[in-house]
Amino acid sequence: MSDVRFCKNCLYSSDHPLGITFDEEGICSGCRIHEEKDSLDWNKRWNKLESILKPYRNKTKYDCIVPITGSQDSYFIMHIVKKKLKLNPLAVSFNKYFNTPLGIKNLANFRSTFNVDLIQQNVNPKITKEITKSTLRRFGSIYWPILAGQTSFPVQCAVRFKIPLIIWGAHQGMEQVGMFSHKHEVEMTRRYRKDHDLFGVEADQLPTIFDSLTKDDLWQFRYPDDSSLNKNSIRGIYLGNYVRWDPKAQHEEMIEKYNYLTSKFKRTFDCYDYVDCFNYMNLHDVLKLYKHGYSKVTDHACREIRFGRITRDEALDLVKKYELVEPDYIDLFCDWLGISEQSLNFIMDQHRNKNYWKKRDSRKWSFRGLSSKIKKDGKRNKVKNFEFKINSRLEYKQSSMYLTVGKGFP
Ligand SMILES: [Zn+2]
Repeated sequence: MSDVRFCKNCLYSSDHPLGITFDEEGICSGCRIHEEKDSLDWNKRWNKLESILKPYRNKTKYDCIVPITGSQDSYFIMHIVKKKLKLNPLAVSFNKYFNTPLGIKNLANFRSTFNVDLIQQNVNPKITKEITKSTLRRFGSIYWPILAGQTSFPVQCAVRFKIPLIIWGAHQGMEQVGMFSHKHEVEMTRRYRKDHDLFGVEADQLPTIFDSLTKDDLWQFRYPDDSSLNKNSIRGIYLGNYVRWDPKAQHEEMIEKYNYLTSKFKRTFDCYDYVDCFNYMNLHDVLKLYKHGYSKVTDHACREIRFGRITRDEALDLVKKYELVEPDYIDLFCDWLGISEQSLNFIMDQHRNKNYWKKRDSRKWSFRGLSSKIKKDGKRNKVKNFEFKINSRLEYKQSSMYLTVGKGFP
C-alpha cells in the first residue's frame, strides 16, 4: 500500500479498479483524456456521427436501439437521438427492481415526453433474488445482475428484432480513467463488459453446487454469441465520442427542458445520478468503499475537478464529508432479499479490503482509505457554478418500497 500513487490533478490513485496510468508530470490518463474535451473540434465529431448513422436511417422499422433507465444520462441520450439526430429509436429498459418512486416517475415522463416505443425486461423476482444473493456473497456485489442485464438485454433485442445499431451514452472506462481516446471511437465489446462490468464472470459461470441456479435461469443475463452478432452486423456506439460529455450540464439542460427529477443523497453531493435506485448510492456505494477504499463521491469529485468547477482541495473536503456517512434503505434491501441485517453485515465484512480497513474489535472497524493518504495542495477557488438542483425526492411517504412495475407515480 505504501507505493500507491495519486494524480496531481484529480483524486484517483494507481489503485483504481479500471486501471490507470500516470505521465511524467504525475497526471493520470483520465485527466489527460478529459483535456481532449477542450481541444477536439466537436462540430467535426458531430459530422462524423452523422456519417456513421447514415446507413442505418430508415432501413428497418427502428433506426437504432437506445438502452435507458429512469435516471442518469437517459434523457440526454434520447434528446440527442430523437430531437437532434431525428432518428426513430426503440428504447429498451432492464428492470433493476430497486426502483424508487422518483425513477418510475422519471421513466413515465420520459415515455410521454419523447414519444418512443419502450420495451422493458422484467426478470422474475425469484431468480433475481437468487442471483443477487449469490453475487453479494461471492463478489460483494448487489449490482452484478443489474449490470449483466442492462448490458445484455439491449444486445439481445438488437439480435431479436434485427436492429443492428445500439446507441449508448458515455464509455465509463474512457470518462473515468482515459482507457481510450475519443478519437479511437471505441465501440461496445463483450470483453469490456465481462472484465469491468461483471468482474470477469459471465452468467454461465454463476451456477455452482451451492446454488439452486441452473443455466436455464440465466438467459436474460447472457450476451448473444458472436455468430448472431456477426450475422446481424450488430454494433454499439458511444455518444461520448461525438458529443462533448458533461453530465452536470446535461442534466441541468434536461431539468430545464423536460422536467427531469432529481434528489438529494446522503453519500454524495451529485443529485442527478442514479435517482432511480434505492441502493446505488447507498448499499452499493458502501460496498464500493469496503472493497476499493473509495466511493462514488470520489468519482463525482474527480469529474468536477476536471471540469474546473472545484479545486482538488475542495474535492477532497467533499469526499471526506460524504464517504463515511451511513447509508439509507438497508432495511428495505434486507426485507426484499429475505435476510437479516446481521447476516448482511457479516457478508459485507468479508469483503472489506484489509488495505483500507482494520478490525479493532469484534464489531468495530477503522478506515484508512485512499482519501486519508492524499496531501492537500493549498489551492482553493471561490466555487462557481457548483450548485446541484434538487427538485424532488427519492421516496414518497405513502410508498417507500421498491416498485416492481409502475405506470407513473403518484
Ligand atoms: Zn487525474
